[in-house]
Amino acid sequence: MNIHEFQAKMLFSQYGIPVPQGKAVYSADEAEQCAKEIKADIVVVKAQIHAGGRGKAGGVKLARNKKDVAGIAKGLLGKTLVTHQTGPEGRCVRKLLIEEGVDIGKELYLSLLVDRTYSRPVFITSLEGGMEIEEVAARTPEKVIKEYIDPSAGYQQFNGRNMAFRLGLEPDIIKQFVSMAGRLYKLFVEKGASLIEINPLVITKDNRLIALDAKVSFDDNSLFKNEDVKAFRDLDEEEELEIEASKHGLNYVKLNGDIGCMVNGAGLAMATMDVIKLAGSEPANFLDVGGGASKETVKHAFQILLADKNVKGVFVNIFGGIVRCERIAGGIIDAAKEVEITVPLVIRLEGTNAKEGLEMLKGSGMNLEVASDIWEGAQKIVKLVSRR
Ligand code: ADP
Ligand code: MG
Repeated sequence: MNIHEFQAKMLFSQYGIPVPQGKAVYSADEAEQCAKEIKADIVVVKAQIHAGGRGKAGGVKLARNKKDVAGIAKGLLGKTLVTHQTGPEGRCVRKLLIEEGVDIGKELYLSLLVDRTYSRPVFITSLEGGMEIEEVAARTPEKVIKEYIDPSAGYQQFNGRNMAFRLGLEPDIIKQFVSMAGRLYKLFVEKGASLIEINPLVITKDNRLIALDAKVSFDDNSLFKNEDVKAFRDLDEEEELEIEASKHGLNYVKLNGDIGCMVNGAGLAMATMDVIKLAGSEPANFLDVGGGASKETVKHAFQILLADKNVKGVFVNIFGGIVRCERIAGGIIDAAKEVEITVPLVIRLEGTNAKEGLEMLKGSGMNLEVASDIWEGAQKIVKLVSRR
């Protein structure tokens, strides 16, 4: 789960990590009021959406005069902001963060995430802050510094000093950096984060280290441990169909292609997406109905696929193990009773009760094609969709 910058900064404050003074607002009036409460002369107005790259896209604006804040807020609220992270459709700005303008001396980069290859948390830091770290890593990999943390020992001060020395920070800043990294690590572990990214982390002209931006993502499987984090969820920022899918316990991610896929098991779902690409098309989604999917779950899953306007055809690819194929067939037949299926449908059932499942589907009078393996199925659906 992702959260907004202003929420991430609230968490930072709780953990004693310095952030600019600021507050989230929902209207131009509130923005004006909030600007008056800020001690600094210069105020920054920042669009709050679950995507980065706002600066370049005009979503971060400096008001040298506080009188300008209301006008800037009006211009941003309700606007669709398109950044390199939002995709071409962009995101609607519904909230703003009004915060003190900081006198920036130097912009650094600092993040903390789980390195799955090494099975441990890793800090990534660089003097090249303020820009995309992917670009820095691609062009000048020597400027990206990594510090692995032994999860059984946790963060140690030498970890922070290792990074600070390699960055070449001044003694006064080193102290602040070592302390900040420790606090970030504590937050990361206690709150079940999967990523914390501060870009830029700034050294102000008067030598203070401040998190100017804040992105925090959480592992969904850890949300049950922290009610406060769960409360940060913002449904406005999520895909409607994904919200619907999560209600039914489905692993569903919407994608940009036109072939809807219904699969059981994450591995088979990935393989199905690959094979659709190999056959010359693009998947419209990732969907794992899960090992123990009931007829009801399958019905909901199928309806979610059909509700996506981009879906021009559906490929059902099931390997019946724990989930029996006749349950899948039953779910599809039930779904078809409630929504009209106007797109081609290819079904491949294999494993437990595959024969019974296929008999049921054939007997239902539904318009569908059967495939005997994954490659045949993918080719069939791609062909049927391209013919339309
Ligand atoms: P994004 O990463 O989405 O572009 P940031 O929060 O990193 O958004 O802001 C973009 C840039 O705007 C920063 O690199 C910084 O130069 C400037 N900026 C952001 N917040 C402030 C602030 N409070 N004071 C001064 N400059 C800021
Ligand atoms: Mg940033």
